[in-house]
Amino acid sequence: MRLTRLFLLTTGLLLALVSALLLRSIWMDGRQVAAAELGLAAMERAYLVMKVAEKASAERGPAIPVLNDTEPADPAKRERLQAFRHTTDAAFDEALTALTGLSDAASLSTLAQLQKARRELAHARVEVDRVAALPHARRSAPGQRLTRAPIDLMFAVIDTVLAGVTTQSAAAEAVYPELAMPLVGARYAAELREYAGRLGSQFTAPLATGQPLGREEQREIPLLLGRIEQLRKLIELQARAGHTPAPLQAAIAAMEAQYFAADLPFIEQLTERGITGQPYGLDSAAFVARYVPPMKSIVALRDALFAAARDSATERVAAARLRMAINAGLGLAVLCIELTVFLLIRHRVLLPLLRSTRAMNAVMRGEHIQPAANSATMLRTDEIGDMARAVTALQEATQRSRALEAEREQLIAQLRQASDTDFLTGLLNRRAFSEQAARLLAQARRHGWPVALIVFDMDHFKRINDEHGHPAGDAVLCAAAEIARGQVRQGELLARHGGEEFILLAVGCRPDEARQLAERLRLALATQPVQLPDGTPLQITASFGLAWVEARQPVELDELYRNADRALYAAKSDGRNQVRCADPPPQPLREAG
Ligand code: GH3
Ligand code: MG
Ligand code: MG
Repeated sequence: MRLTRLFLLTTGLLLALVSALLLRSIWMDGRQVAAAELGLAAMERAYLVMKVAEKASAERGPAIPVLNDTEPADPAKRERLQAFRHTTDAAFDEALTALTGLSDAASLSTLAQLQKARRELAHARVEVDRVAALPHARRSAPGQRLTRAPIDLMFAVIDTVLAGVTTQSAAAEAVYPELAMPLVGARYAAELREYAGRLGSQFTAPLATGQPLGREEQREIPLLLGRIEQLRKLIELQARAGHTPAPLQAAIAAMEAQYFAADLPFIEQLTERGITGQPYGLDSAAFVARYVPPMKSIVALRDALFAAARDSATERVAAARLRMAINAGLGLAVLCIELTVFLLIRHRVLLPLLRSTRAMNAVMRGEHIQPAANSATMLRTDEIGDMARAVTALQEATQRSRALEAEREQLIAQLRQASDTDFLTGLLNRRAFSEQAARLLAQARRHGWPVALIVFDMDHFKRINDEHGHPAGDAVLCAAAEIARGQVRQGELLARHGGEEFILLAVGCRPDEARQLAERLRLALATQPVQLPDGTPLQITASFGLAWVEARQPVELDELYRNADRALYAAKSDGRNQVRCADPPPQPLREAG
């Protein structure tokens, strides 16, 4: 595999691997952040539902005086109930808004539970108002449970809401099992607040009517006390399971002091009086004023437990986000470093190597490449710089030797041209003709081509010299050569044989064609007057001797020439300006025109 390919492949693989790891890490961190945020949101919703339970529970307080009100009705009691109902409705609205539009199972289930609780509450309120509208004598008749029934309906509302609290906080605990402790603790505190309220409710009617505790209350109170004690233990167990923060410890201590150490003994005293028929010593309003405020310590503990869970969850969300940011940053840094290293190796090593390899290959192929004399690579002081300089030196040396070689070849070609050419006419000279003609003859013999040889000699040339001077004779020779060259086709060999005699070898030319060629030449010379140097036109002629051999007939150039020369001699003898053929006995084709 090519080095560049290998490098690209490994770098690509490495980049893909790092990117995949980076994406995976970001994805996993993202999931953790998303889960943490979901858990935190579920926790916030659980808190809102707990507040619904608290407010709906508190609504029972002002409902009881309204149910037990005497004629004429006290509007202040109703106004107070109305204010509490508004507060409960606001808590419902807030929780329902937070739950609306969510699609997770826990939220859907909580939403359904809250909606059910709201319907139950609406029904309970209708019952409260209906019973409160009855005559007092009917409501307060001994053994009458009329005022008790709407309160029981309100208890049922809280049970439904608390089920919603459990659903929602279980969703948060699923995300944060570590936070189960404070969350479960907060839920128990919400329940404790409810049961404490129910315990108080047992006394409101007897206190209002000044009657001893009924059978139902006597049965209910120990059950509620037992449940309250159970929840107290559970809360303490949950709160002390791990490290307990100082605000939580303070909230537990406050609940112990205010509710369990002060409120419960007061309840026990009232219970005893209610059972034994002693006067209670206070009316229902005084009871509420004495019993209800310490219950706030339970709500405060619930809030402290919830705050502990929320703080911890918030910290986890922040930690997950930070971890995600650090991982993404580190991953990106690794990617950047990898890319930089890749680009550095590519630019500093691979590309110069590639350029040098190309240059060397070009040198080997003999291509012309301008040496990169002052490139940045050449100026480098490292090994790549050494290599680039060596390659450039090699290129320059090759270039020089190639130039020398070309010069020499040009000289040789010029020399060869000069030695083959007749200096006056520019035609082939006799020596070059002999060489090339011998090769053509051999080729013709191999292929079985016929061959013709035409020799022609200027007529009375001596006279031209004598009458017009030697330079005029030279000019006539050049002009005759030019005319003859104009008649010659490719593959035919024309030369100056010496003096004013020319020779033409035609390969693949049958006798009749050769005769026509000689005749064409003769006519061309005879019909084109030659311009002498002084401008005088001069009519010239030449005599032609023609000899040929048939295909595959072995013959030497000398012999062919002798035959043609004999024919030329005959042409001269017979009056010049004519073509004569060697054996068979030459016959003049035409007389001079
Ligand atoms: P014929 O028709 O019988 O061939 O008569 P001719 O005068 O052409 O033949 P001859 O052999 O008597 O004369 C040839 C002359 O050609 C003699 C020589 O001075 C002249 N000659 C040969 N070479 C050159 C040359 O290169 N330049 C010039 N100007 N004359 C040349
Ligand atoms: Mg002559
Ligand atoms: Mg001659």
